[in-house]
Amino acid sequence: MNQRKKIINCNLTDPNKILPFQYPWARVHYKTGVANNWTPEEVPMQQDIELWNKQGTGSLTDNEKKMILWNLGFFSTAESLTANNIVLAIYRHVTNPECRQYLLRQGYEEAIHTDTFIYICDSLGLDPDEVYNMYQNTSSIKAKDDFVVAITESILDPNFKTDTVENIQKFVSDLIGYYIIMEGIFFYAGFAMMLSLLRQNRMIGIGEQFQYILRDETTHLAFGADLINTIVEENPEIWTDEFRQTIVENIQKAVKLEVAYAEDALPIGIMGLNSEIIKEYMEHIADRRLERINLQKIYNAGNPFPWMSEIVDLKKEKNFFETRVTEYQTGGNLDWD
Ligand code: MN
Ligand code: FE
Repeated sequence: MNQRKKIINCNLTDPNKILPFQYPWARVHYKTGVANNWTPEEVPMQQDIELWNKQGTGSLTDNEKKMILWNLGFFSTAESLTANNIVLAIYRHVTNPECRQYLLRQGYEEAIHTDTFIYICDSLGLDPDEVYNMYQNTSSIKAKDDFVVAITESILDPNFKTDTVENIQKFVSDLIGYYIIMEGIFFYAGFAMMLSLLRQNRMIGIGEQFQYILRDETTHLAFGADLINTIVEENPEIWTDEFRQTIVENIQKAVKLEVAYAEDALPIGIMGLNSEIIKEYMEHIADRRLERINLQKIYNAGNPFPWMSEIVDLKKEKNFFETRVTEYQTGGNLDWD
């Protein structure tokens, strides 16, 4: 038995002995998650309800409403897909106890996110069947979910084990599908759209909740990348040229799907957003994700939305009790945005 292989494959370590820690980074992400605690009901929705129902001057345009609905339709079900993958696929194979502690925390945060979309649907009086069926009825949303499900489905087999090079590669593909592509790419056009609306002081309750989700997702992504990098470090034989090429191709496909989603959600370009600028942003994001898992960046795109990284660093108490949306603290460049 190879004693180096310890973050996955439970026969080599005791999943019940959390001390002494072997992976201090997992503890850092756990503590960050706990420090960022929030619940959707803390955010008042009155102004959103008024604006959503308003007619005439200053009301939401049909295109703005469509953009909001598309993002609610995507996120409402994507949060459940992510949560299910943690519990039904990842948790079984990641047997290191401090990583499992983090996965439990992440699962809780996904429940908070799921709850956020219930709260938004209730507050705005949306038809739940409409919102929760969009992931099957709306082709640009379905294409994203189908893509992640296709990359990851083999490890849902109850007999699947991470005991061969090929199976560890499949497991890493699942982690890339959910952490890097779903949470790291497919969430980001939506974040940019909803937070652009927030910057115009429109739908500020939903915007505030999207800020907290973005901050949580930043940690999920950081944990996922550390987990992927550790598995690769401990099992270097999986990191073949061919495997790396497949990962890069999947990320390129994901960027295309995300740009198509943004074009569908924003058909005429609103709020200074159009498909060109979203494409540049997605390419910038994809380069960051590639570099975070030790792959070469491919796009060399600039960042058209530097304000997105400021949002990640927001302070909860400031946002809840003092500010309105455009007054975020500046500085503090988080590694992810
Ligand atoms: Mn989430
Ligand atoms: Fe997440």
